[in-house]
Amino acid sequence: MIQSGKVYLVGAGPGDPDLLTVKAHKLLARADVVLHDDLVPSAILALANPLAEIVNVGKRCGAKGTTQTEINARMIAAARAGLSVVRLKGGDPAIFGRLAEEIDALEAAAVSWEIVPGITAGLAAAAALGASLTDRRAAARVVIVTNHRVAGERPTERDWKALAREDATLVIYMPGHDFEALRAQLLAAGLPAGMPAALVSRAASAEQSVECASLAGINALPSVPAPSILLVGWALDSAVRRALAASSAALLAEAELLLSR
Ligand code: SAH
Repeated sequence: MIQSGKVYLVGAGPGDPDLLTVKAHKLLARADVVLHDDLVPSAILALANPLAEIVNVGKRCGAKGTTQTEINARMIAAARAGLSVVRLKGGDPAIFGRLAEEIDALEAAAVSWEIVPGITAGLAAAAALGASLTDRRAAARVVIVTNHRVAGERPTERDWKALAREDATLVIYMPGHDFEALRAQLLAAGLPAGMPAALVSRAASAEQSVECASLAGINALPSVPAPSILLVGWALDSAVRRALAASSAALLAEAELLLSR
């Protein structure tokens, strides 16, 4: 049962309401206040208690967005007023979701809280591609990493050298759109040019798309709608081959259709 005066730090999953956890759904239906990020789609917000106050505290909302300090203050004020608060974040709240900062603020204010995990984008992207990130024949580890740092700078070549291994699957959140530098750095870090890669846009939504390439070809991947995530590793090999075969078959069929006109 939902408790009043408490903040639930809830993962909304990658977009599809069917991928919400039952617990997240129950909490949403009973919350007094829902504070959500930009990534949470309206189909999920529609499941919230109709009497709840629903606030977009996303960084991109409005002209300036809501600062982390404002979000913390709002959560604390609502919990202290005896309300049950759902702090709803895309994917899993603990993966690149500023969760630790919010927990620190709640702890400092002596407000009780609980984490409700969600399906993170990397797992939804692997499902979209049809791959196992830990295929034991090819991978012994999964590296969850971002191509974007707190101060806005990108990881350096040295950072990638420490992470890039032939037996690792890289799951790159916030990959950006220009993969020229990333390609050069991953190749310089020793990854082979033929290593498979997949760029998944809007995983687990109606607009989901998957673009595949080899590592040497990621700079030529088309620009896709945000949010998108980049997967790199031998564990993706058969799935990427299947995807490339399917898209060349589709191209061939299209060409045949054009020629037959
Ligand atoms: N907490 C989130 C991640 C937040 S960081 C999670 O666990 O999924 C935001 C980044 O997540 C985006 O830049 C993108 O790289 C990735 N992302 C989130 N939702 C996505 C989706 N539906 N499809 C592809 N990438 C997604």
